[in-house]
Amino acid sequence: MPSDRGRRKLLEAIYAQVILDITSGNLDRTFQYRIPARLQGQIRPGTQVIVPLGKSNRPVTAFVLELEDKPACDPIKIKEISDLSHDAEPVESQLIELAFWMKRRYGAAMIQCLKTVLPVARKVRAVEKKEIFRKAAPAEYEVFLEECRRKHQKARVRLLEAIPADGPVPYELVGQKLHVASGVVRSLEQKGMIQVQARQVLRNPFSRKKQEKQVLQLNSVQQEAVSQLLEEMHCQGRKRPCLLYGITGSGKTLVYMELIEEIRRQGKQAIVLIPEIALTYQTVMRFYNRFGDRVSFINSRLSAGERYDQFLRAKKGELDVMIGPRSAVFTPFPDLGLIIVDEEHESAYKSETTPRYHARDAAIARASMCGGMVVLGSATPSMESAWQAARKQFRLVTMDRRAREDAVLPSVHVVDMRQEMLAGNKTMFSRVLYEKLKERLEKKEQSMLFLNRRGYSSFVSCRSCGEAVRCPHCDVTLTLHRNQQLKCHYCGYTVPMVKTCPSCGSPYVAGFGTGTQKVEEKLRELFPEARILRMDMDTTRGKNGHESIISAFANEEADILVGTQMIVKGHDFGKVTLVGALAADTSLYTSDFRACERTFQLLTQAAGRAGRSGLPGEMVVQTYKPENYSIQTAASQNYGAFYREEIHYRKMMNYPPCSCMAKIIFSSPSEENAAETAKETAAALRRRLHADTGQVLGPSAAEIGKINDIFYYNLFLRTADREQMNQELEFINSFMEWTKCRKDVMIQFDIL
Ligand code: ADP
Ligand code: ZN
Ligand code: ZN
Repeated sequence: MPSDRGRRKLLEAIYAQVILDITSGNLDRTFQYRIPARLQGQIRPGTQVIVPLGKSNRPVTAFVLELEDKPACDPIKIKEISDLSHDAEPVESQLIELAFWMKRRYGAAMIQCLKTVLPVARKVRAVEKKEIFRKAAPAEYEVFLEECRRKHQKARVRLLEAIPADGPVPYELVGQKLHVASGVVRSLEQKGMIQVQARQVLRNPFSRKKQEKQVLQLNSVQQEAVSQLLEEMHCQGRKRPCLLYGITGSGKTLVYMELIEEIRRQGKQAIVLIPEIALTYQTVMRFYNRFGDRVSFINSRLSAGERYDQFLRAKKGELDVMIGPRSAVFTPFPDLGLIIVDEEHESAYKSETTPRYHARDAAIARASMCGGMVVLGSATPSMESAWQAARKQFRLVTMDRRAREDAVLPSVHVVDMRQEMLAGNKTMFSRVLYEKLKERLEKKEQSMLFLNRRGYSSFVSCRSCGEAVRCPHCDVTLTLHRNQQLKCHYCGYTVPMVKTCPSCGSPYVAGFGTGTQKVEEKLRELFPEARILRMDMDTTRGKNGHESIISAFANEEADILVGTQMIVKGHDFGKVTLVGALAADTSLYTSDFRACERTFQLLTQAAGRAGRSGLPGEMVVQTYKPENYSIQTAASQNYGAFYREEIHYRKMMNYPPCSCMAKIIFSSPSEENAAETAKETAAALRRRLHADTGQVLGPSAAEIGKINDIFYYNLFLRTADREQMNQELEFINSFMEWTKCRKDVMIQFDIL
C-alpha cells in the first residue's frame, strides 16, 4: 500500500487516454495510463507511445488521445506508459491531433471526432467494387490482342475484347459473364495491357465529349498569382493561408495544378477540396489529364469501403493528389504539403452533423500541423476569409481577368418588381425578362431561370413596399408559424401575424414564395412552343435524375431550364446566354446574418454562368429590393464594394467574423426538460460572462421546434474570440455533466 503522500502524488498525476488499434473500427475501446514524470511535457494528443498490456505486460504501441488530470479508477491500478515510440511519426498521429483540435473547437466528444477524422476499415466485397481499364497504348493493345487470337488464348481474347477503348468495365463481368479466371486478369495486368482499380463512381455523361486535351500555358495574370503563391509556399516557418480571389472564369484550376506540380517535385502530396455539386466528371478529368493515375477522388456516392480503399492508397504512397468534398481533408497522406479549398465560400463545406466542423478551418488546422500550405479559392470569398485577408492574417492573391480572351462578363439588369406591380403586371415574369426569353427562343439560344429557395415561404413581406416583417431586437426577419404567430428565432420575440404592413400600412402582406413547379406551368402558358426542363428536389429524386436533366440540357434538348439555385452551381453550359433570377431577394429575408452574403454569392456566381464561350451573356435579376447593396454590387460584379458594406454591417451588429457566435442546441423528448436545461445553461453562462467578454441570446424554440417528437431549443452565445469560445464550450459540457438531473437532454454545438 502506498503511503498517504504517495497516494496524493498519484492523484495529482497526469493521465493519458490511449487507443491501441485504430484500424479495426473499434474506436470506443480506450485505456487510461499514467504519464511518468520523465515523459511529462513530451506527450500530447496524437503521440505514439509504448504501453504494457495484459497480465504479462507485453509492450504494445498505442496513440494518446487526450490528457486527463483525474484517474478513471483507483490510481494504484493504473499502469504507466513505458516510453515514447521511436518509430517515424505515422500519419495517424497527425489525424488524432486534428481530432483533438476538432473536439476543442466544436465542443464534441473525442470519440465522435475520431470517427470523423480516422479512416476506418470496413469489410468490402472487393471484387464487386473494381473495374478494369485498357492501360496500354491503343496500337500496342491491338497488336497484343491479335497475337492472343493467333495463339487461341480464348480467355484473354474474351477479356481484351470486352474492354472498350474509352472506358472501364466492371470487374464482376470477368467471372460471371466472360468466364475468365482471375489469374488471367493478373497476367494481363502484369504485362501492362490492362489495369484493375477501385471503381470510380463519378459519371457525368455529357461532359465526356467536351474534355480539353491540350496543355494550357499560364497567362500573365495566372503566372503572377503562381509566383506569389510559391513565395508563400517556400517561406520558412509558419505559412499564412492564401486567399486566391479570382473572378469567375479567371482560370483558378490551372493555378492549382501548377502548385500541385511543385508539391510533387518536393515529394509531397496535395488535397483538393471541391464542393460535391461542382465535382463533375469534367473537373476531375482536368486533373486526370495532367497527373494521370497519381490522382484519385472520393465523393458521397462511394461506399465506406470504397472510400477506405482510396484512403489506403493515399497512405501507402500510391497517390499524390486526392480530390473530394469536405471529408477529403482527412486523406491520410504521409507527407501532406498542400490543401486547396476551391469555392471556399460554399456552405456545403460545413458538416450538418456533430461535430459540425467547417472543412476550411479543418484544412487550416491540418496544414499548420504538418507545415503545409492552404490555398482558398473563390470569385466571391466568404466574409471570414476576406476579413482575415484584410487583417493580413491570410495572404491575398488576386486574379481579375477572365482567362479566355473571348469570354466577357455578362451584363446584368436589375428589375424592380414593385414597379411591375404598379404597371399592372401581376405575373412572376417581368416585362424585360419576358422579352429576353422570347428573343432567346427566336435565336435558338438557351436560358436558365432559377428560384432562390432559401427561407422559402417562411417570412412575411409586403407586396407594395417590399419590406419584410423584422424582429425589433435582432435585425432578422420573423418567421411565420402555422398558428399565425410571427416569431424571432434568435431572441424569442413573438407577435401575432400582422394584418397590414408595419412600414407602409398596405394590406398586401403575405407569406412569400413561389414554387418551381408553378414557374414551369406559367412558362408553358406564355411560351407553348418552348421546350422546358425542370430541376428541383422533386424531379431529381431518382438516382441519376440530376445528371440526366443536366445532360439533356447540355445536349440542347431543351430551351429553358427551370430550377432552384442548384442549377447555377458548378455547371457550364456553352449555349446559355440568359440567366434569370426570379426572386433574387428571398435569401435576404432568412433569419440568418449571412443573408446578404449568400445573396451576393449566389447572384454573382449565377451571372458567371452566362456567356461562357464567346456569345455575350445577360442576366435579369428580379427583386423587391433593388436598392439592397448585395443586389446592387452583384449586378455590378463588384466584390470590393460588397465587402465594404457587409463588413460594416457585421461590425455594427457584432456578428462573425467580427465576433465568434455559436448556436447551442438542446433537444429532448420532453419539451419542458429541453426548455429548462436551456434556461439554466443560459443563466449559468450569464453569470460567467461580462458584457465585454460575451453575450447570451435566448433561449428560444428552434425554427423547427419539434422533429420526430424530439423538442429543440436554441441558445446563442457570442464571444470576442475563438479561444474564449473554446473555453465556454468546455464549460457548458462540464455544466451538463454536473446537472445530470435531466439525462434525456442532448446538447449540440453549431459554431456559426
Ligand atoms: P475559374 O477561375 O472560374 O475556376 P477555370 O479554371 O474553370 O476558371 O477556367 C475557366 C476557363 O478558362 C476554362 O475553360 C479554362 O480551360 C480556360 N483557361 C484557363 N486558363 C487558361 C489559359 N491560360 N489559357 C486559355 N484558357 C484558359
Ligand atoms: Zn409595405
Ligand atoms: Zn429577436
